[in-house]
Amino acid sequence: MDQLFSVTTNNDEETMLFAEKLAKTVGKGVVFTLIGDLGAGKTHFVKGFVKGIGSNSLVTSPTFTLLNIYEGGKYPVYHFDMYRLSSKEEAEELGFDEYFDLKTLDGIVMVEWPEQVEGLINCPHIEIKIEKLSDNQRKIIVGSKK
Ligand code: ADP
Ligand code: MG
Repeated sequence: MDQLFSVTTNNDEETMLFAEKLAKTVGKGVVFTLIGDLGAGKTHFVKGFVKGIGSNSLVTSPTFTLLNIYEGGKYPVYHFDMYRLSSKEEAEELGFDEYFDLKTLDGIVMVEWPEQVEGLINCPHIEIKIEKLSDNQRKIIVGSKK
């Protein structure tokens, strides 16, 4: 990963605000992966991001459904959570790989637990790594991956 920059946030509001601002700088056709332990703040990051593209959709963890789609903003956000994925084949059955053709992607893709689908995200993407520094402090590292 090529590290682009990092920020430290002091509470969940700051993480959401950072993601909200970031969302305003990106267009459609961008894939993000979100890496971090349970409770790191990946879903809060998505919440802020979805707000930033102008959607009022309620963001929840798609832990059981694997995919939530948020409409109502500049473009749709496809939010995957691979935590409970049982196999890569299950992701392939979902049509997961169709989301990684950047030329035809009509929105933004965000993937929690990309480690579960290692090798399937085969397009250039932005990697967001969230490290827990203390109860309320997080280091958010933004990088690019080819
Ligand atoms: P994940 O999706 O990574 O499992 P969530 O976003 O669901 O994590 O939950 C993160 C938890 O950590 C929430 O309870 C949130 O309030 C808390 N939290 C505390 N400080 C922060 C911070 N700086 N950024 C994000 N979340 C934080
Ligand atoms: Mg989550």
